[in-house]
Amino acid sequence: MDTSKFDLLVVGGGSGGLAVAQRAAEHGARVAVIESHRLGGTCVNVGCVPKKIMWNAAGLAQAVTDAAEYGFRVENAGLDWEVLKRKRDEFVARLNGIYERNLVNRNVTLLRGHAQFVDWSTVVVNDQRVSAAHVVIATGGYPKVPEVPGAELGITSDGYFALERRPDHVALIGSGYIAAELAGTLRGLGSQVTIVTRADGILREFDPLIREHLTRSVQDDGIEIVDHTTPTALTKSGRRLVLQDGPRRVGEFDCVLWAIGRQPRTLGMGIETTGVALGQEGEIRTDTWQNTNVPGVYAIGDVTGRVSLTPVAIAAGRRLADRLFGGQPERRLDYELIPSVVFSHPPVGMVGLTEPQAKERHGDAVRVFTSVFVPLFHAPTTAKPRTAMKLVTVGAEQRIVGCHVVGPGADEMLQGFAIAIRMGATKQDFDDTVAIHPTSAEEMVTMR
Ligand code: FAD
Ligand code: NDP
Repeated sequence: MDTSKFDLLVVGGGSGGLAVAQRAAEHGARVAVIESHRLGGTCVNVGCVPKKIMWNAAGLAQAVTDAAEYGFRVENAGLDWEVLKRKRDEFVARLNGIYERNLVNRNVTLLRGHAQFVDWSTVVVNDQRVSAAHVVIATGGYPKVPEVPGAELGITSDGYFALERRPDHVALIGSGYIAAELAGTLRGLGSQVTIVTRADGILREFDPLIREHLTRSVQDDGIEIVDHTTPTALTKSGRRLVLQDGPRRVGEFDCVLWAIGRQPRTLGMGIETTGVALGQEGEIRTDTWQNTNVPGVYAIGDVTGRVSLTPVAIAAGRRLADRLFGGQPERRLDYELIPSVVFSHPPVGMVGLTEPQAKERHGDAVRVFTSVFVPLFHAPTTAKPRTAMKLVTVGAEQRIVGCHVVGPGADEMLQGFAIAIRMGATKQDFDDTVAIHPTSAEEMVTMR
C-alpha cells in the first residue's frame, strides 16, 4: 500500500479540524483532512446551527403571542414542522457544500472515510495509508446514553434533529446546556415538556441568580421540573414511555431525550497504536499548547474534554496552525474568560466567574452588583418576565471577573462585555460608559 505524505494530517472535519486545516494551508502547508460523516461536524449538522434555527422558530411563536398583546390582530394557525425541518436541513446541506468548497479553494485534500491509526503519524482510510509530520486529532464527541434498561427507547440531541413531527410530551433527562435549550424550544413550539434532573433547578454550574431566574421562568412557561431523580430504567406503557427511579414512576411520554453530557470520541480508531494518553473520561490529554504526550500529535476541540464550544475548537485550531506553520511560536489559546450563551427561553449569557467561584478564589475581596427588572418590551404585555444581571468584582479597584445575564437579548449582549472584561475593565469603567437608552443592556452600566 502506497503512503501519501502531508505536512499536516487532521482527523475530523468539524469546527476544530476544518479551522486548523484551513489556517495551516493558508500558511503554505500541505494538508489532508479525514472526515467519516458530514463536513462541519457536530455544530453544523446536529448542534449550534440547526439548534439556533429551532430556537428562532420558538421565538417567533412567542412573538405572535406578544404581537396580539401589542394590539395586532393575529391568528396563529400553528407550526408546519415539516416545512421548518425541510428548510433547516436544506440550509445545513448548503453549509456542507460551502465547507467542501472552502477546502478545495485552499488546496486541502479531503479524504472521506473512517480514519484508523496504525502508528502516531500514519492512518489508514479506505485502504489508503496517509502520513504526516504533524497530526491533529479533532474527532469531537457524541451524546452519552446511560447504561440502564430500556435506554435505547430514548433519543439524544442527534435524534432531536431527525424528528419528523413535534413530540406531544417530551421528557428531557439532565439540566445542562442541551436540556435547557431544547426544553425552551420544544415548549415554545407547543410540546408539553418535563425536565428530569438529579439536582434541583437547572444549569447547576451557573451563577445562582441566573439559575434561580431561569428555573422560575421555565416553570412559568409551563415546563415541569422533576428534581432529585436519576432514571434507573425506561419502560414502555403501550406506545408511551415511562421513567423509573426505583419505585418512583415519571411519565408517560411520547419522547424521552437523554441530555446527560457528551463523551469524547477516542474509541475505535486505533488510538492505542499512537501512544497518546487518555484521561479518565476517555478524553485526549493536552497541555496548554494543544500538545499530547506524543511529539507531533496534537488534539483540539471536544475530544480534549475542555470547554466544549465551537469557537473554542476553532480558536484552538487556528492558533495551533499559526504556531506550527505560521512562524508564531507563542501563539496558543487562553482558556480563561471564555464567554458562553445558553439558548434557553429566555437566553443566558455569561463570562468569567460565578459569585461562589469568585468567593472561593478571592474571599472577602469580592463585591457583587445585581439588577432585576421587567424589560420595557413587556410594558404592554400581561406576562411580566424579569431579566436578571450580575457583575462580580474583585479588590479595591473592583475589577470585573464575572458577568451574568438571563433575559431577552442576553445572547447578543455578552460579546462586547466579554471584550471589555478581557481587557481588564473595572466597575468604574462600566460606570463611566454612557448608557444606550432604552435598552436592557444599559442596566449593565448603571448598577449601584
Ligand atoms: P466535531 O464538530 O464533533 O467534529 C468532529 C468530527 O470528527 C465529526 O465530523 C466526526 O464525524 C469526525 N470523526 C470522528 N472520528 C473520526 C474518524 N475516526 N475518522 C474520520 N472522521 C472522524 N457550541 C457553541 O459554541 N454554541 C452552540 O450554540 C452550541 N450548540 C450545541 C448544540 C448541540 C445540540 C450540541 C450537541 C453541541 C453544541 N455546541 C455548541 C457544541 C459544539 O457543537 C462543539 O463544541 C463543536 O462542534 C466541537 O467541534 P470539534 O471540531 O471538536 O468536534
Ligand atoms: P452538560 O454537561 O451541559 O449537562 C449535563 C447534564 O446531565 C447535567 O445536568 C448533569 O447533571 C446531568 N447528568 C450527567 N450525568 C447524568 C446521569 N448519569 N444521570 C442523570 N443526569 C446526568 O451536557 P449537555 O449534554 O447538556 O451538553 C454537552 C456540552 O455541549 C455542553 O457542556 C456544552 O459545552 C456544549 N453545548 C453548548 C451549547 C451552547 O454553547 N449554547 C449548547 C449545547 C451544548 P449535574 O448538573 O448534576 O452534573
